[in-house]
Amino acid sequence: ASADTGLGSWPWRRARITPDRIALIDDDRSLTYRQLADNTERLASAFRVAGLDRGARVAYLGPNDIAAFESLFAAGLGGHVFVPLNTRLSAREIDFMLEDCSADVLIVAPSHHDVVEQLTVRPSTILTLGPGDDVPGAREFRNFMAQGGLGDGFAPVGLDDPCLVLYTSGTTGLPKGAVLTHGNLTFNTVNQLAHLDVLSSDRALGIAPMFHVTGLNQVTLPTLFKGGSVRPVGKFDAGTVLKSIEEHAVNCFSAVPTILQMLCEHPSWQSTDISTVRYVIYGGSPVIERVAKAWLDRGVQLLQGYGMTEAAAGIYLSIADGAADHPVSVGFPHFYTDVGIAKDNSVHPVTSDDRGELLVRGPNVFSGYLNRSEATDSSFDGDWFRTGDVIATDHAGWTSVVDRVKDIIISGGENIYPAEVEAVLTDYPGVVSAAVVGVNDDKWGEVGTAFVVTDGRAIDKHDIAEYLAGQIARYKIPKSFHVVEDIPRSATGKILRTELRTIAADQVPH
Ligand code: ATP
Ligand code: MG
Repeated sequence: ASADTGLGSWPWRRARITPDRIALIDDDRSLTYRQLADNTERLASAFRVAGLDRGARVAYLGPNDIAAFESLFAAGLGGHVFVPLNTRLSAREIDFMLEDCSADVLIVAPSHHDVVEQLTVRPSTILTLGPGDDVPGAREFRNFMAQGGLGDGFAPVGLDDPCLVLYTSGTTGLPKGAVLTHGNLTFNTVNQLAHLDVLSSDRALGIAPMFHVTGLNQVTLPTLFKGGSVRPVGKFDAGTVLKSIEEHAVNCFSAVPTILQMLCEHPSWQSTDISTVRYVIYGGSPVIERVAKAWLDRGVQLLQGYGMTEAAAGIYLSIADGAADHPVSVGFPHFYTDVGIAKDNSVHPVTSDDRGELLVRGPNVFSGYLNRSEATDSSFDGDWFRTGDVIATDHAGWTSVVDRVKDIIISGGENIYPAEVEAVLTDYPGVVSAAVVGVNDDKWGEVGTAFVVTDGRAIDKHDIAEYLAGQIARYKIPKSFHVVEDIPRSATGKILRTELRTIAADQVPH
């Protein structure tokens, strides 16, 4: 028989090499690789006892913790598909996902029991964790696992078998379930390892939620692959995270820009020892310059990753000789990722001084969405996947992410990239964050309108327009400014532009 190349084999493969090292440690317990391998096997055989076939869907609703990893690896070992659900969603939204992926099992953490009571879609097995004897959920989970045994053996899982259904963030519409294979995830890890100096002694913090692609794939899985240890963070709190960075002498983690901002603006930032932190990967959206500076000034290697759910995370990573001189760049493509640019309805190699929609292909790139053949068809051009993102390269090939194709504002025939205008706006004294969207305009077709959040300072719209005029072309200057309390953002800190467009259309006379 062929070897098991699935993710579910990682714990026992690691346990042969580093059995006594700590693989995972959370608030309640820690597991060595040997224990992780045993628990993975017990849970996988418990799934089998419960009647799950290969390909069955195991949905998971809970915070980042050890149980989430046990479930991921056990599903992998048994050839089931793991579906981590966004814990911030409402019962109605979770119903949609459970129905969409036709979940056979739902594993729920104690913190999410309330939501489960409101669900109308009910998988045949609902495994609610907790309350246990000492640790919430531990006893019930152990009882379920105890139905499985050790040494039962599992049919090998191959690289082309589905491993995860991971829902996209839903920034541009309804979330879509991307089917990621064991091969997609493995090659993403290989890509990360080709770029990053991951050590077997590394202690990583799992801050980014596992239901988003960055949470699992950027740092966590590569660290476990190497035999390092991961400390999942269940609930983000800046003060607590800073404390655990110091206490656990953390070496690396990945996070979205909003989280990096919350950490470096926290009162205990200066007094926290973060000298053990070697690298931090951020991505998902651009980072504000002063936030980047705060981290760089503390000696942390701050890497920008560009990626997406459909690529099992990584497409570009800003790690290359000379990266420090290119702070906004996402650097160069991952080792096994091919990139192309869409022009005149065909795919061209990416050259220097280039700009256009990015296409990708490679062993980390998925081959389709669940139940959405139309969306799948329209997002592929042969074997190339259309990212929907515009990138630009400079004369030496350093790449930056410009914006989403869907968000470009076309005003009088000129393209305005909201992200560019927002970056300039957030540099203006008193502006904390900014968002720009297009609204219909009789004369120009579309014009930009800006939403700004201030630190309380009064902002004069004429002054700000004048300041912008010194920084960007006139046609890019928003035609109206709205000071707002808050900018609607997704869980990963992305601006929800569809909501803003609706507000803008209501507010701006045209
Ligand atoms: P949906 O596809 O449902 O609309 P989404 O695209 O936000 O949601 P994700 O797969 O989580 O879902 O995010 C990938 C997107 O995030 C990319 O297509 C890109 O637009 C954006 N992104 C990722 N990294 C960066 C980065 N470093 N800079 C700017 N944008 C980024
Ligand atoms: Mg997307």
